[in-house]
Amino acid sequence: MRVAVLGGGLQGCCAALAMADRGAHVTIFDRNDSLLTRAGAANEGKIHLGYMYAGDRSLKTARTMMIGALSFEPFLKRHLGAASPALRTSAPATYVIHRDAQQPADEIAAYLGTVHSLIAEQAASDPSAYFGMDLTAPPRRLSAAERAAGFDPELAVDAYQTAEVAIDPMVVGEAVRACIADHPRIETRLGCEVLDARDEADQMTVIGREGSGAVAEPFDQVVNALWCGRLALNEAVGLETGRAWVHRLKYGVSFRFPEGAERPPSATFILGPFGEVVSYGEGLTYLTWYPACVRAISRDLAPPQWATYPDDPLRSEVLEGTLTAMKDIVPALRGLDPAALPEATVKGGAIVAWGATDIYDPGSELHRRYEIGVTSRGRFHSVDPGKLTMAPYFAEQCADRVLGRA
Ligand SMILES: Cc1cc2nc3c(=O)[nH]c(=O)nc-3n(C[C@H](O)[C@H](O)[C@H](O)COP(=O)(O)OP(=O)(O)OC[C@H]3O[C@@H](n4cnc5c(N)ncnc54)[C@H](O)[C@@H]3O)c2cc1C
Repeated sequence: MRVAVLGGGLQGCCAALAMADRGAHVTIFDRNDSLLTRAGAANEGKIHLGYMYAGDRSLKTARTMMIGALSFEPFLKRHLGAASPALRTSAPATYVIHRDAQQPADEIAAYLGTVHSLIAEQAASDPSAYFGMDLTAPPRRLSAAERAAGFDPELAVDAYQTAEVAIDPMVVGEAVRACIADHPRIETRLGCEVLDARDEADQMTVIGREGSGAVAEPFDQVVNALWCGRLALNEAVGLETGRAWVHRLKYGVSFRFPEGAERPPSATFILGPFGEVVSYGEGLTYLTWYPACVRAISRDLAPPQWATYPDDPLRSEVLEGTLTAMKDIVPALRGLDPAALPEATVKGGAIVAWGATDIYDPGSELHRRYEIGVTSRGRFHSVDPGKLTMAPYFAEQCADRVLGRA
């Protein structure tokens, strides 16, 4: 069987690997000259266990995320090998409840406990599935002294140490690219803009543009993993969107922490428009602060092609705005001067989600992320990963849909 995968982000690459593994011949199309150069590379790599989604009290988002999270490392291990550097993770995150959280602190704390019980239950059949972390221990509440040592205690009103980690998406990207380059049943069509996918008699034809030339290539099945280009193509083939969506352009800042300086703990500030610190190995640190890092919103079917690495003045605005805001709550960042971080990278991309209002609205649909996954119309299959966390899980689901259950 010949399958076209449209979009070479993490979702497209994982779907290609899952289907090629089951014997399909897969061609990945991407408009860029290399795989994994957009959102799949420009995110912070948190492999969500569900703690972040206290805004969804149905627990459906938490349940969805934990299923994805528990599939993530086993999938990468299977395809990249158990010794791959892509499997290295950050320091586990402390969930810090912000003074201005959108729910009372005790309710959020109760939510974290409930999510933990679900995770422990889910993980029971394969206790090492989440990067070998022990998921049986409940989140540990930081003492007042610990909280004051890591965070401004006026702003950080409560804090819980969890087992949740992040991967470095650049390292994963490199490993996945190498794996795909070596795969005998996967080929790539890079520098090819996908315009349409037509269902014609007994085949699907992918229509595109490569430089000034037109592309029309036949396949048995087509998988749409275009992320921010997904809805536009869905509409073109007759899969109607039928509800409000929003594309948000979000950036984050990465840099090497000065040697010898005390590094901040990995931390996620909840619940609302706050941010995160991720401490990876070798001093690599990632910061994101929602008001400073979300720079555009588009409700078009396809958003503009926002720059992954913005130029000045936007780069400096994001860097300075993020550091200034986060110094208030994370004392370990106070000694950092943006001018002394010339190598800092500001990178980001589109986040696509259902919803009409931004997360400043506690009732926004953006606080939940479970209506995602694979939708099919005949031989056309559209995959909305929702989060990076979900890409391997939906890749297998997509392979089930296209090729039958493994
Ligand atoms: C700043 C930021 C932080 C994030 N943090 C996290 C996190 O910590 N944890 C988490 O789980 N998720 C996170 N996310 C979300 C996550 O990055 C995305 O859900 C996920 O990466 C999207 O799937 P993808 O990797 O396939 O997308 P992409 O990498 O964007 O892949 C889509 C590909 O399609 C190509 N394409 C699009 N249109 C066309 C076209 N018409 N023709 C040809 N090619 C086309 C693009 O070039 C691209 O390569 C974050 C996102 C951002 C922006």
